Amino acid sequence: MTATTLTAPTAQALAEDHPEFRGWLALLTAVADESAVTGWDAVAPTVTASAIPALAGATLTLDPDLVNAWLRRLISVGAAAAPALAGAERLDALAALEAAMALDTERIDALADGAGVPREPLRAVLPLLAYPWLERCGARLAGSVDREHAHAWCPICGAWAVLAEARGLEGVRRLRCGRCGGDWRAEWLRCPFCGTDEHARLRGLVGDAGGQSRRADGCAACGAWMKTIATLGASSVGELRLLDLATVELDAAALARGWSRPSALGAPLNIRVVGRSRTLGSRMRRWWAR
Ligand SMILES: [Zn+2]
Ligand SMILES: [Zn+2]
Repeated sequence: MTATTLTAPTAQALAEDHPEFRGWLALLTAVADESAVTGWDAVAPTVTASAIPALAGATLTLDPDLVNAWLRRLISVGAAAAPALAGAERLDALAALEAAMALDTERIDALADGAGVPREPLRAVLPLLAYPWLERCGARLAGSVDREHAHAWCPICGAWAVLAEARGLEGVRRLRCGRCGGDWRAEWLRCPFCGTDEHARLRGLVGDAGGQSRRADGCAACGAWMKTIATLGASSVGELRLLDLATVELDAAALARGWSRPSALGAPLNIRVVGRSRTLGSRMRRWWAR
């Protein structure tokens, strides 16, 4: 479909070109580092067969120390850019993780109020707390979700697709999730948000001068837009987050023209997070850490 594809930039290259992204890139780097921590491998959810999204109604049993340590790291990186966030290190990590997975703004605000930290920076940073675990689930459940899923929300974690890839030489349209890496096929001439296939209502909003390597398309029926990026193959979830950031000018242009995308999740998850009873070793470590 297109000869020009877009390769994900490195975090370093993005930081050099856009100093204003540095705070966010530091958070994404912290997520990538945490995602390499093997402790998350053992955190398998109890999922309901045939649930859509696949994680809907799941119960997650995990070691509270794992989440506590990650919450403190994430908040300390966030606090480098927004010092007022520092108080969020005291949050109940399991409640914070539940709110992050649900992208539940009311609960995140309540946590912010309880910890005496401002709401806005916590709304921005806390959702990242769920990423290491959601990435594991994305990799594990990729083969078990429907390849055809006619929605703009992720069939694994319910989040709205961060962008669409026009993938490979054929330019197959794949919607991608920036939380878990979810990857599903979508029709080109149909709005994935509202399902309309009235071509007259689907329109290109902004694109790059050179052609089709990056653009944003809108749907006049529902007012939502989707970014499309031409890629050679499937991007990794880390690459998706960098591509999303590298094309933020498309979002800004769409917003400036009055287009809007739905917030929160596209489908509810209701994941329950339960703390596993601590091992003797972790109890000892906690005792010493007091
Ligand atoms: Zn997802
Ligand atoms: Zn629509």
